Amino acid sequence: MSFLLPKPSGRQLSLGIMGGTFDPIHIGHLVTAEEACQQFKLDHVIFMPSGIPPHKDRDSVTAAEHRYLMTMLAVVTNPCFTISRLEIESKQPSYTVETVRRFYAQYGNDLELYFITGADAILDIITWKDYRDILARCSFIAATRPGYSLQKLQEVLGSAFPAVMQRIHLIEVPAMAISSTEIRRRVAMGKTIRYLTSRPVEQYIYKNGLYRYIPA
Ligand code: ATP
Ligand code: MG
Repeated sequence: MSFLLPKPSGRQLSLGIMGGTFDPIHIGHLVTAEEACQQFKLDHVIFMPSGIPPHKDRDSVTAAEHRYLMTMLAVVTNPCFTISRLEIESKQPSYTVETVRRFYAQYGNDLELYFITGADAILDIITWKDYRDILARCSFIAATRPGYSLQKLQEVLGSAFPAVMQRIHLIEVPAMAISSTEIRRRVAMGKTIRYLTSRPVEQYIYKNGLYRYIPA
């Protein structure tokens, strides 16, 4: 791990990991992470841009360094937020289970680890590599996202995998229909993206000519 976060004395370190492609990061990600940080009294939320996303088409994802820098620009002024290069520097596809193992290897058992995700991503958890190992070692904070009802989540996971539901904390974030896909689409069409992401990220996108063409 390329960095070590300061540990609070006399209690566990409480970390939230917000993983994603962040292509680009937007206010949906930021509001979700902030809400999780407040509600769960997290010491840090670590934004972790993925390297080679196992679920996404490799050629259609923007270079990791661009995604990393945009994420950095968006999180750098928030005292609770930080960023990790762990997954973008990995030569292997990014699997959550590997990330969890590395964090425990780094911090030992004095660690409370939460994964912060949108509720849409949680629905896929049972398809993740070694998901039982992941659930044994950390909890999830799942944020509602328009179009993905919490009730559906309970129905799908609750009946078939009750142990899974015990490890998932649901939070309501102000409903935002923002997605990176929509931002990329808007840039390609010459539409404004102001206020959908932070101003420095918006400027970075234009400066570097990102998202001018949507891959076929
Ligand atoms: P794309 O459209 O390219 O899939 P995305 O907007 O879904 O991008 P990701 O980087 O894929 O962003 O998502 C990272 C994490 O953030 C996932 O857990 C996802 O569920 C969550 N997330 C994305 N958008 C929102 C939103 N508007 N509100 C809450 N959570 C979100
Ligand atoms: Mg997504």
